Amino acid sequence: SPPQGYYTRRGGIGESGDFVTSPEISQVFGELIGIWYISEWIAMGKPKAFQLVELGPGRGTLTDDILRVFNQLASLLSKCDVSVHLVEVSPKLGEIQALMLTGGKVQSNPEDKSAYMKGISKTGIPIFWYRDIQDVPPGYSFYLAHEFFDALPIHKFQRTEKGWREVLVDIDPEVPDQLRFVLSPSSTPATENFIQPEETRDHVEVCPEAGVIIQRLACRIEKDGGAALVADYGHDGTKTDTFRGFQNHKLHDVLRAPGTADLTADVDFSYLRKMTQGRTATLGPIKQWEFLKNMGIDLRLQVLLQNSRDTATHEQLLHSYDMLMNPKKMGDCFNFFALLPHHRLVRPDKKQKPESKSPLPPVAGFGELLLK
Ligand code: SAH
Repeated sequence: SPPQGYYTRRGGIGESGDFVTSPEISQVFGELIGIWYISEWIAMGKPKAFQLVELGPGRGTLTDDILRVFNQLASLLSKCDVSVHLVEVSPKLGEIQALMLTGGKVQSNPEDKSAYMKGISKTGIPIFWYRDIQDVPPGYSFYLAHEFFDALPIHKFQRTEKGWREVLVDIDPEVPDQLRFVLSPSSTPATENFIQPEETRDHVEVCPEAGVIIQRLACRIEKDGGAALVADYGHDGTKTDTFRGFQNHKLHDVLRAPGTADLTADVDFSYLRKMTQGRTATLGPIKQWEFLKNMGIDLRLQVLLQNSRDTATHEQLLHSYDMLMNPKKMGDCFNFFALLPHHRLVRPDKKQKPESKSPLPPVAGFGELLLK
């Protein structure tokens, strides 16, 4: 909602806001993701150009950290034409991203049907802003969605003796200015269309918008090449009631003062996998601690510790490592999930020996994971 929506009005990410995210905790997070893209770019034969497309870039910190890695590896990327494409609905966060990535030197063009803002990054890479993934031009692309899918609206469903019912939001007739949850008296178009026939849970949350977006990414990767990395808290089709709100870093009743709190629901990765319709291969979800460990976070931490002599920086580095990696903090509840073209995961000798048992070409971060 442009006038009343949380992200269009408030969108408070960071210590002074409502919630904090991994890229805001440590630069190492974005650096390792930058390495992931470079590693995939090399594995796919160093194409001459790629677009880095981020969905919901928040304060722009993650892209900034990735672009710093690209700049450090400039000699490797020197013959590659790189551009950045950000999909963002919040005007306020768009401004913050522009400041972070370009120092504020941007050209606004609200009338433009495609990119509503353009600029050049501090390292000389062109950046474009859009409201919808469909506006991003086609082409070989690396997609990134960090804490994006959990922000999209969900439908909630409850299994009853009479069949599936939708959980709806109603005005409480007894308490003024109060909302309440009710069950639909009969089935609804959503109960008919959004529940998988093989569903075994009694309560489910479905995010059709996430399904549509992942389908678009899968179609684009199948047609133009590239990869997508999705990181979010979530589960693989096991959890039920996860819808909750955050305000000032505290849990907040989702029905109170709509538009003032961050509303979120865990991402159902099994649903995302299903919605790719087999157009791409999928990897994961794997836990954040496992992905970051596979990406070499321990080595990076050692280097940063060696490069700094003051105790405050050491403590900060160790503290942020613990936040990202500790299974009781963000290590276990966040997951990494990837979409890759099928040909990326074909065994190199399969053509000669179809029955070959040789290992799949490794994908950085995902280790020896089996394909699903
Ligand atoms: N990736 C960032 C921010 C996560 S918050 C980080 O990890 O720090 C969610 C982001 O998605 C915000 O930038 C918000 O404005 C954006 N967003 C929310 N709904 C969106 C939608 N429907 N389309 C595009 N962006 C959206």
